[in-house]
Amino acid sequence: MTVSVAASPAPTPVDLCVDARWIVPIEPAGVLVQHTLVVDGGRIVAVAPTASAQREYTPREHVSLPAHVLLPGLVNAHTHAAMALLRGIADDVALKVWLEQHVWPREARFVSPDFVHDGTLVAAGEMLLGGITCCADQYFFPDAAARAYRQSGIRALIGLPVLDFPTPYATDADGYLQAGLAARDAWKHEPKFAFALAPHAPYTVGDSSWEKIVVYARQLDLPIQTHLQETRDELEQSLRAHAMSPLARLDRLGVTGPNFIAVHAVHLRDSDVELLAEQSCHVVHCPGSNLKL
Ligand SMILES: [Zn+2]
Repeated sequence: MTVSVAASPAPTPVDLCVDARWIVPIEPAGVLVQHTLVVDGGRIVAVAPTASAQREYTPREHVSLPAHVLLPGLVNAHTHAAMALLRGIADDVALKVWLEQHVWPREARFVSPDFVHDGTLVAAGEMLLGGITCCADQYFFPDAAARAYRQSGIRALIGLPVLDFPTPYATDADGYLQAGLAARDAWKHEPKFAFALAPHAPYTVGDSSWEKIVVYARQLDLPIQTHLQETRDELEQSLRAHAMSPLARLDRLGVTGPNFIAVHAVHLRDSDVELLAEQSCHVVHCPGSNLKL
């Protein structure tokens, strides 16, 4: 076959072409070899074999990745980004000891808007270097975290924390909710951000606080994310105190549903697994964390 160059349509100007040795689009499954990603106006307009992309497009910017795999950004589905500044302070201890003897006392002493901004900025940089372009965060001073996320350019689901005990951020559940919702109001038009209510855990947040959280979540159409059944002790304590699992308790309080994100969800009974499925809840496993704590 002969190709008449003169008869070919003029190449289309576009913003960016990225030639990659391999492209893994995820959907559809498979690996594309020697292909080019074509971007214009902030959107992917084509993924084509490099040879044809070079004929069809004239990019304003051209990137060549001759030994790389190009794939969509990874998502970190659970993080406390600012805690990057506390990394390594207490390894190889159980969760209860880690929280009560090491983390919470240091947070009471050090956590401030500057701490959260700087720690989140460090973590966001690390995530971007690792190919993560979106994360689901929950930590104190979400307004400071939002500033860091905007600076870094990463997308974020920003969790608005709720606890029943005082910290430098707030004194009680109402205070946490007020501060969190103010942060959400300040940033809700930022296109790379979404928000969630993020009560710490069933064992650190009482029923009356959960009831308020459910009302706000429904009124504002916000997801609820929480640490759930992270340890066997948490499950056993709940069975003793409430005669039901933490998840069954949250279900009774109206927390479960498609907008509920259960983080960890390690120590589940069969009835918990059924409940999560029936209510179309989301589960985020954190094997690295569970190996550490
Ligand atoms: Zn966590």
